[in-house]
Amino acid sequence: MRVHSLISDYLHEIMTDSSSSEGGTVADYIPELKKMDPNLLGIALCTLNGHLYSTGDDTAPFTIQSMSKPFVYAAALKEHGLDKVLDVVDVEPSGEAFNELSLDDETGRPLNPMINAGAIAVNQLILGEEAAVEDRIAHIRDFFSRLAGRELEINQRVADSEIEHADRNLSLAHMLRSYEVIQDSAHDAVRGYIEQCSIEVTVRDLAVMAATLAGGGTQPVTGERILSPAVARQVQAVMASAGMYDAAGRWMTTVGIPAKSGVSGGMLGTMPGQLGLATFSPPLDKKGNSVAGARIFQNLSQDMGLHLMSTEPYGIQTVRSIRTARNYTVVRLQGYINFAAAERFVSRIGEAKIKTKSFVLELARVSGVNGVGRRMMLEELRRIRNSGVEVWIFDPENVLPDPDLGDGTYPRKQSRRAAFALLDDLRRSASTPTE
Ligand code: GLN
Repeated sequence: MRVHSLISDYLHEIMTDSSSSEGGTVADYIPELKKMDPNLLGIALCTLNGHLYSTGDDTAPFTIQSMSKPFVYAAALKEHGLDKVLDVVDVEPSGEAFNELSLDDETGRPLNPMINAGAIAVNQLILGEEAAVEDRIAHIRDFFSRLAGRELEINQRVADSEIEHADRNLSLAHMLRSYEVIQDSAHDAVRGYIEQCSIEVTVRDLAVMAATLAGGGTQPVTGERILSPAVARQVQAVMASAGMYDAAGRWMTTVGIPAKSGVSGGMLGTMPGQLGLATFSPPLDKKGNSVAGARIFQNLSQDMGLHLMSTEPYGIQTVRSIRTARNYTVVRLQGYINFAAAERFVSRIGEAKIKTKSFVLELARVSGVNGVGRRMMLEELRRIRNSGVEVWIFDPENVLPDPDLGDGTYPRKQSRRAAFALLDDLRRSASTPTE
């Protein structure tokens, strides 16, 4: 409860700070959207263990619009696999507006699934070429409902209103047909796409849907595995490079959160392995992104250290200590052992030069080891062993299972009791800390 109000209060503070300077205009090219209240403002954040925090107008419904694109792309990848989908739509950032009339010169393929041309083509993949628009839409609505963890509905008024003003999207569909990228009539193709854009959500729904991507495909609240980690990764990678259209480069450098915006004023973002985020505020900037939403994302990124390219998580000292006592050299590691961390370990050992009879590697504070980290650690242990030193490991959490040194031999395992006795000994003896 305490944690809950702490985080909700924090979100509220960020929201109020970010909304202070006004600006932007509500989308008007879809007449129904023009009716939205420009003062609505909400934020939601969902962690991978399914904790959902929100504040402001967090139950106000709005149409998902372009934020549907990453999820229909995910559905197509799930249905057809990456190769087939890549045959139809590329993954290159276009640096152009969402409704730009552009296709690859040679292949006729849309540049990516986040621009309208790409999204119209991806919509056509759902349930295959022969499917009826109604069936595709029913399938997409059902899929989105599983992602949100509740039954979502289509706002038919918004859909009808957009269809009446769809010349731009119709021209895109005609172009796609001329290159034989889609088979449906232009009208059917656009109707399917527009209905997918008219599914109604709240910021809370979007945060959970985003967290499903961030968590590698498992819906964090219902626990349902909906996508494979490979699909979740693909979708987020495309969002990172093309999600913000012609603002993608600036967005990645300043905010650093894979994100997708919609002309209804919603915005969603994913921090892979951490959380899903969503905001809602209808006034848009010239590029079609919510003004307050962009500001909230920027503030959250800075304040919470959420930038994708931030090196913070790896800033922890990998080598906690190197100490010697009697015949032992004890090296204690901590944190997550990736390439950079293992590299630090190896170079520190190289500098320290082991002169004792035994070498103990203590992994009690290591939270995990990736593939390259594991290979490097085992290789280093083998090198030490080959120099005539007896090698032990203390690995109570089993972060380094089956530590084969590469030649079928294993380091000796230190028992918990022996390890603690040794550490105690180290603490008391006049050891020479080297760190
Ligand atoms: N349905 C809208 C369109 O195609 C979606 C655009 C958007 O949200 N960027 O124009």
